[in-house]
Amino acid sequence: MSIKPPNVNEAEIAKFEQVASQWWDLTGDFKPLHQINPLRVQFISQHIAHQVNDIESNNGFYNKEIIDVGCGGGILSESLAKMGAKVTGIDMGTEPLNIAKLHALETGVSINYQKITAEEKAVQNPECFDVVTCMEMLEHVPDPESVIQACSTLVKPGGLIFFSTLNKSIKSYLLAIVAAEKLLKIVPDGTHDHKKFIRPSQLITWAEAHGLKCIDASGIHYNPITGSHKLNDSLDVNYILCCYKL
Ligand code: SAH
Repeated sequence: MSIKPPNVNEAEIAKFEQVASQWWDLTGDFKPLHQINPLRVQFISQHIAHQVNDIESNNGFYNKEIIDVGCGGGILSESLAKMGAKVTGIDMGTEPLNIAKLHALETGVSINYQKITAEEKAVQNPECFDVVTCMEMLEHVPDPESVIQACSTLVKPGGLIFFSTLNKSIKSYLLAIVAAEKLLKIVPDGTHDHKKFIRPSQLITWAEAHGLKCIDASGIHYNPITGSHKLNDSLDVNYILCCYKL
C-alpha cells in the first residue's frame, strides 16, 4: 500500500514563513487580510447567530468549538476567540504559528495552535467541531478537494463550514495579481498563482461530493487601489461560502 504524501506545497509554506513577522502589521503584506477580516467575521456571525436562533444578542459564538484551517498568524482565529469561541488554529507554517501564539499572548486570548494538516487533524478529531473556517488557504495547497473533505470530516453533522478563496476569473487576475502584486506591490510578487484560483461552481461541486450543502455565498469586495472593502453579490474575485454538514 502506498502512503499518500502530505497535501502541502513546501514552496508555498516557505513564502509565508518568510513574511510571517509582518502578520500583524496593519500596513504590511497582510494589509488586505486585515481589511477583509471584519467582513468575514460579519458573514460568519450572521450564519452562526441564525443557526442558534440568536440573532438579537448575536452571541452564538459562546463556547462554540471552532477550528481555523490554515490560520496563519491568527487574524481570524483571534477575532473568533474574542467573541467567545473555543478556537483551534492549524497551519503548516512554523513561523506563522509562532507569531500567532505570541500575538495571542499579547492580546490575552486563549487559542490552541497546532502544526498539523487538515487531513491529519481529521483522522485525530473527526466530527469534533461545531464550525470550521478555511480562509484564503485552498489556493495554496496541491489538492484543495482533499482539504474540503478533511474539513467535512472535522465538523459535526449539522455544523457549518466557511470557505473563502479567489475565483478563477479575468478580473481576479487583473486585481489580485496584476494590480496587487505587480503594480501596487501591496502583497509580495508571487503570492498567488492564477491557475490555483477556484471557481465557486467547482468549490460547491467538491463540497457536495463530501457531504456538505452550500447554503450561502457572498463576494468579498476589496479594491487594492482605494482600499474600499464590502460584502456584495458578485463572486467574481474574492468570495466566501457557507456550507452545512448533512
Ligand atoms: N487563513 C488565514 C491565513 C491565510 S494565508 C487568514 O485568512 O487570515 C494562507 C495560510 O495557509 C498560510 O498561513 C499558510 O502557511 C497556510 N497553508 C498553506 N498550505 C497549507 C497546508 N497544506 N496546511 C495548512 N496550512 C497551509
